[in-house]
Amino acid sequence: MAWQVPLRTVVEKDFKVPEGEALHQRRRLFQKITASAWDVLVIGGGITGAGIALDAASRGLRVLLVEKADFASGTSSRSTKLIHGGLRYLKNLELGLVRSTGRERAINHRMAPLRVYPAKMLLPLRKGGSLSPLTARLAIGLYDFLAGVDRRDRLRMLNVQETLEWLPRLRPEGLQGAALYTEYQTDDARLTLDILRTAQGLGAVVINYLEASMPLYTSSGRLAGYRLSCALTGAQVEIQSHTVVSAAGPWSDIVRQRHGQKTPLLRLSRGIHIVVPASRLPLSVAVYMDVPTDPGRMIFCIPRRGHVYVGTTDHYFEGVPDAPDVPHAEILYLLDAVNQQMSLNPPLGPEDVISYWSGLRPLIRRPGRPSTEVSRKDELKVLPDGLLWIAGGKLTGWRVMARRVTDACCQILHRHTGKKYGSCRTDEIVLQDQSLPDYPDRDNFLATLEGWAAQLPDGPRRARELGEIYGGVAPRILNRAYELFSEDRMNLNPILTAEVEWVVQNEWAWFPEDYFERRSGKRFFNPPAVAEEAETVRKLMHDALSRPVSREN
Ligand SMILES: Cc1cc2nc3c(=O)[nH]c(=O)nc-3n(C[C@H](O)[C@H](O)[C@H](O)COP(=O)(O)OP(=O)(O)OC[C@H]3O[C@@H](n4cnc5c(N)ncnc54)[C@H](O)[C@@H]3O)c2cc1C
Repeated sequence: MAWQVPLRTVVEKDFKVPEGEALHQRRRLFQKITASAWDVLVIGGGITGAGIALDAASRGLRVLLVEKADFASGTSSRSTKLIHGGLRYLKNLELGLVRSTGRERAINHRMAPLRVYPAKMLLPLRKGGSLSPLTARLAIGLYDFLAGVDRRDRLRMLNVQETLEWLPRLRPEGLQGAALYTEYQTDDARLTLDILRTAQGLGAVVINYLEASMPLYTSSGRLAGYRLSCALTGAQVEIQSHTVVSAAGPWSDIVRQRHGQKTPLLRLSRGIHIVVPASRLPLSVAVYMDVPTDPGRMIFCIPRRGHVYVGTTDHYFEGVPDAPDVPHAEILYLLDAVNQQMSLNPPLGPEDVISYWSGLRPLIRRPGRPSTEVSRKDELKVLPDGLLWIAGGKLTGWRVMARRVTDACCQILHRHTGKKYGSCRTDEIVLQDQSLPDYPDRDNFLATLEGWAAQLPDGPRRARELGEIYGGVAPRILNRAYELFSEDRMNLNPILTAEVEWVVQNEWAWFPEDYFERRSGKRFFNPPAVAEEAETVRKLMHDALSRPVSREN
């Protein structure tokens, strides 16, 4: 039976979207999207679909993306939140993959330095562990070279004493030192939203809470569009599109079934993460370490916003992908792994877990092989009716996956229209509000915000967090908060008010949980704030959705 962490907070599920201006605008938008045929319909608003929308829009294609729930509410908000450099591919000597993944990481950082940023990672080395100091030095050194890792991000080997200076709570038994290297961290849900906002800026139309429910065909049996069902109004609309792409993550087999393909191609694997207060697991650096009782497996412990998240696990999952469970045994597995590596007094226990999340890897079965044999790479298939179907892959590879899919769309469109379409140029794009034009680096930007917010109630405490969450939008939210505060000095929540206004008007939030989970991450990294703010956010959201707004959907 799934074990429920004793969360002090529950995100309100019973919020009713008011019959106001936002819904009126949405209905007007539905009329607009049915008026003429699209070049590309993308099903799924996780990172894969968002990337395709960005690539296609940047090549001048008319793109519509629909997401049945909230954007990034599937796997794309439940990962380890790392833009990997491809170190893992060294194990199988996949040198080309190491090089291309390293390159993607650098491109992601260039596209969004406030969203994808370097952070040190410490890999303790013990006698009998996965890596000896020599293999770690060779592997990471080779990796630094192949992946073209920036000089300041390169490997440093630490001796035992240096390792313990970095991580005083690490158990010293069998310790031989550590490898200190660089990983890139991100916020998966917000990266997805950044990509979607940028795609929208280039002309894509993206709509959440709108399910692609039934394919539509021409009389000759060619896929020609989709029936879409609105989860907010119950409306059904039919749209035409010259190409249709399924980027439905763990739901990809369900989409295939709607296209007459009954044999499942996916094998879902569940991975969970738990969050504990940093006071219980004090770390000055992220750690990637062996699970001593499970040879070959490793877990991450990553400090974030006064907490540390720990993950992940890897177990096959059967069932509906909408709400993967969090088995008690997997929580205990992670706690146990930390306790075996770190000397904590008292040891970490279930009572320290303040929140958790569970995500599903959509792994691809190998045809003709037992269902346990899966590939962790992405696969693009063209179904007999013309549906382009992509699944698998990693957060890190979103741009490369998008390029393959958009190339395929362009080829199909070229056959129909004779028009030539440009090639991929997403590596030249800077994601909206995630660049650093006026600051030397991200830390400098975050520190500046602290001074900026000094005169606002709760300003000094929230400013840095606001910068981490919203990147370059944070100054705009703070300016709006100052405006609200000068209008009403009794307003004790001007920042929260400005934030909710922003996410409703610019980030397609419809429900309090959209704000608490995927926009602010408070549900995971600050559950007490959810309890405190739930009622206020409901009210603010109700007001913001009722008023005329600048949003398009
Ligand atoms: C535990 C875990 C840790 C991971 N860690 C990392 C990591 O650190 N780094 C990394 O690079 N990768 C990582 N990954 C992999 C990465 O998270 C996934 O590859 C990626 O998020 C998949 O994105 P997606 O868009 O394909 O799927 P999803 O994010 O699941 O998006 C699919 C979307 O399609 C929507 N949808 C489904 N059916 C329909 C329909 N009919 N109409 C409209 N919408 C529909 C769903 O609601 C969903 O939002 C991790 C994965 C897991 C599970």
